[in-house]
Amino acid sequence: MDYLELADLLLPNVEKTPEYYRTLYPKRNLKPNAMVTRYAPSPTGFQHLGGVFAALISERLAHQSGGIFYFRVEDTDKKREVAGAIEDSTDTLRDFGINFDEGVVDSSTEKGAYGPYKQSDRIEIYHAFVKSLIKKGLAYPCFCTEEDLDKTRKIQQELKINTGYHGKWAIHRNSSLDEIKIELAKGTPYVIRLRAPEESGKRVICNDLIKGTISMPQNDQDIVILKNNGIPTYHFAHAIDDHLMGTTHVIRGEEWLSSVPIHLQLFEMLGFTPPHYAHIPTIMKMDGTSKRKLSKRKDPEISMSFYKSQGYPFLSVTEYLVNLINSDFQEWRYANENEPCTSFKITLENMSKSGALFDILKLNDISKNVIASMDATTVYKLYLDWAKNYDADFAKELIENEEYAKNIFNIERENDKPRKDFVKWLDVKDHIEYFFDDLYKSSLESGLNFPDHIPIKQVEKVLTSYLDVYNYSDDNDTWFATLKKLSLELGYAKNARTYKKNPDLFVGQLSDVATIVRVALTNRTQTQDLHEVMQVMGKKRVIERLGQNF
Ligand code: GLU
Repeated sequence: MDYLELADLLLPNVEKTPEYYRTLYPKRNLKPNAMVTRYAPSPTGFQHLGGVFAALISERLAHQSGGIFYFRVEDTDKKREVAGAIEDSTDTLRDFGINFDEGVVDSSTEKGAYGPYKQSDRIEIYHAFVKSLIKKGLAYPCFCTEEDLDKTRKIQQELKINTGYHGKWAIHRNSSLDEIKIELAKGTPYVIRLRAPEESGKRVICNDLIKGTISMPQNDQDIVILKNNGIPTYHFAHAIDDHLMGTTHVIRGEEWLSSVPIHLQLFEMLGFTPPHYAHIPTIMKMDGTSKRKLSKRKDPEISMSFYKSQGYPFLSVTEYLVNLINSDFQEWRYANENEPCTSFKITLENMSKSGALFDILKLNDISKNVIASMDATTVYKLYLDWAKNYDADFAKELIENEEYAKNIFNIERENDKPRKDFVKWLDVKDHIEYFFDDLYKSSLESGLNFPDHIPIKQVEKVLTSYLDVYNYSDDNDTWFATLKKLSLELGYAKNARTYKKNPDLFVGQLSDVATIVRVALTNRTQTQDLHEVMQVMGKKRVIERLGQNF
């Protein structure tokens, strides 16, 4: 068989050679242990936790080692492509601070010298490598239809042998040039297959950096490398791209582990050095007493849009994911309270082999601390970024009252023990809406929240007397002393113990008086520090609210 003639017959217009591309994309000039990693999603759906987890691990390892992290779009399956999926990936990476050095920036822009970074723009490159494999007799056209392949599979199943296109079942493997020419003349559609080495029983070893050494049977199928529309399969594109882009470490979900024999075979037949592989175990979840994979149907937290809509700060999710990568992160965090979580050095060796457990309570806990450590201006800014999309009316209110809003956010903040009441931005409004007169009024209309054991007559009496002694300029101690003095004068016990001993002697206890003032001002029985709340509300608002008829 004249393979050169066959190659020219099948790909007559392909003139560039693998050498051309090797010169075009020279070896990267990096220091010895620098890692080159990538995130390579297919735009067939929206970003999910597993993808962002893989992207974060890849980005951290590259940047920790002084290497390169790039973003590639693997869009070889046009039928399954979802509109907006590429933008969803780039937006998600940006939001979560997963910065890439090279790759697809948006649907029309790229950066980096190893592109194009979208597989559909690389067809010419793949064809050059397919042509060179054909020239070497390592790839050939196959004219089988789906029906032909189905028929073969059924026979193989009846004979109880390995199904697929291999050995003697690979019927176009040894077609002559004349036979091929006849099919081409008829215009029969064809794919290009790789001629797998015939070495039955051989095994391949993969030294996976997370899973350890794995031995798997060598691939014996003549896999398709170019589909009948001229587009490569994922496997082929992976080998070409990761080679030309200089990827040193392929870090991806464990669902790809079973494809490693095919990938190693491709690298070998193409004459490429294979990258290191690290297959990330799927994130699991406890369901009752057993572990299971997160499910698209049952677990909203699998999708990144969940964190966006709930308003988890991106930093909280990132910190939570870093904590899922390596469990010794927690210890590091205690010792390095003020460092960004990205200063923690992650390692693949310390990753769980069986799959990290997703725990929303842990995320909430981390997120509370993350928000508590922010200053008021940052909270204001990040909250607004979220609220503009998810609560436009309240965002408007906060923009119109910027200083007031920042003062509200500053209550019990920017100190050694900041208050931890926000887990996520969705929680904020509920905690602060009473500061705004319209929302406060509408909450009064839905019902007064004075505790049942305090009759409204008592409320009136306390508020009228309190208005006489209230002084906006009082500091915290004076303010409390005044409240206490008034309580005693009105016949309230100074504390719960005194009250409980002789309840008949008292109208109630000091905390009831504080509650009356608190509910009158906020229509809540629980709020942030009352003195601070009153200072932020301002004298006029406090007097107005205390002086109304309930
Ligand atoms: N495009 C593949 C996916 O979306 C990526 C696999 C890989 O990282 O090699 O799952």
